[in-house]
Amino acid sequence: MQKQENHLNLHNLYYSSTRNNSEKITASQAIVNGIAGDGGLYVPSFIPELDRPLDELIRMDYRQLACYILGKFLPDFTGQELKSCVDKAYDEKFDTAEVAPLVKVENLYFLELYHGATAAFKDMALSLLPHLLTAALKKTGIEKEIVILTATSGDTGKAALESFSGVAGTKIIVFYPNKGVSLIQERQMVTQEGSNTYVCAIEGNFDDAQTGVKNIFCDRDFNALIDRAGYIFSSANSINIGRLIPQVVYYINAYLRLLERGEISEGQYINIAVPTGNFGNILAAYYAKKMGLAVQRFLCASNENNVLYDFINTGVYDKKRELKLTMSPSMDILISSNLERLLYDLCNKDSYRLAGLYNDLKKTGRFSISDEMKEQISDFWGGFATEGQTLEAIAQAYGKYGYLMDTHTAVGYYVYNDYAENTSDRTKAVIAATASPFKFPGAVLKAICPESAQQYKNLDEISMLKKLSEVSGIEVPKPLKDIADKKIIHKNLCGIGQMKDFVKSALNI
Ligand SMILES: *Cc1c(COP(=O)(O)O)cnc(C)c1O
Repeated sequence: MQKQENHLNLHNLYYSSTRNNSEKITASQAIVNGIAGDGGLYVPSFIPELDRPLDELIRMDYRQLACYILGKFLPDFTGQELKSCVDKAYDEKFDTAEVAPLVKVENLYFLELYHGATAAFKDMALSLLPHLLTAALKKTGIEKEIVILTATSGDTGKAALESFSGVAGTKIIVFYPNKGVSLIQERQMVTQEGSNTYVCAIEGNFDDAQTGVKNIFCDRDFNALIDRAGYIFSSANSINIGRLIPQVVYYINAYLRLLERGEISEGQYINIAVPTGNFGNILAAYYAKKMGLAVQRFLCASNENNVLYDFINTGVYDKKRELKLTMSPSMDILISSNLERLLYDLCNKDSYRLAGLYNDLKKTGRFSISDEMKEQISDFWGGFATEGQTLEAIAQAYGKYGYLMDTHTAVGYYVYNDYAENTSDRTKAVIAATASPFKFPGAVLKAICPESAQQYKNLDEISMLKKLSEVSGIEVPKPLKDIADKKIIHKNLCGIGQMKDFVKSALNI
């Protein structure tokens, strides 16, 4: 492990907004607030280092490691509180005791993050968040009911609904882009049970949904209104630091498992490839490196919405382009929120300068970073896969190695191969596998049986689930098995301008 440059006392760790770091708050407050009032994201005052020897860490199971890492970032939680949260999160909801298994395929390692309650990687953090949030609320002494407002590009919505459903003292409201998510993703959400759950499609895309939610968070009058009614807003999106920190755990765990299996030696560097949308998952990998994990390169993999690819290569972030709807919908994003946390680091925590960049983005739809900042992201490599390349990657991995992957993971796999071809870098690589192939059966079937594409085309996605299981010989994962028989409970659709009204009606105010 690398030595950290940061030697601040752990107990001094606090959180502040990327856009104004003069105000310091505790981890609990940051989790409860979700997003800062100035529109910025909460960041820790420093990244704590891994201060226990590897041979000690290697003996920990996933939950013990999670308690250790969370304890470093959330110093105002007691060990007992964290253990209670972690035990509730990573239980039999996961179909494997390993929680996030690392699967070797040829010379690559797929970090399967989709073994939780909804078959997508969002479960890794969202299984934990409700417990962190309710514990955090107690600490802050606020006696309100939490209202989770969430915009989703498909997977967060269901994972958040599932994890908050039935949690006392919380309500959850999810907005998703109408026609912007897959049929299965939509069906998973609109069949959600639980009297504290609310789901609404909006007439717009994911960025509209995310901007709408951010606007509600920052609307003082509206916040005052719900405060009087006994509520407080929080977020289950990866803008909430309570979502991000649990994601750091699985990268460190992956490294330890590689070490344990003798695939690498202590201190050996690895590369990490992450199919990226909102930049949360890859940022967690970056935080893991800052904790001391030996990571050489982060391969940031985009689909045809390749705004991050352009940014990494040119230093110009330009969202002024058409959002494309792809077969990896959870990455159909033009405003990658968590990039803000990386940029904050790159401009040496100069929140004034950072706020300037985001002002530019708001006013002109673009910003550019200085050469000096750009130099600091040389450990990021940006790549992207077209729709055709995504299908090819699925077909190739299945044909050659019998490994079945979903469309998002395929983007990461394609970009890794592209990187390996274009560089001489043969560093061992971990690829984040972010969803079960059964979440996107149409595209996966099309990739692995192109000759029957015509025949399967007329099947609805639910029937394709069964077909994919027949063709691959792999069982449909439990969370998706009985989806066709579930009753549709939520049938709401609203315009972008009506999101507040939906919130009001959900809360009866
Ligand atoms: C959310 C999601 C992503 C993108 O992750 P970010 O943290 O938003 O970059 C990739 N793949 C799947 C399946 C997802 O659900």
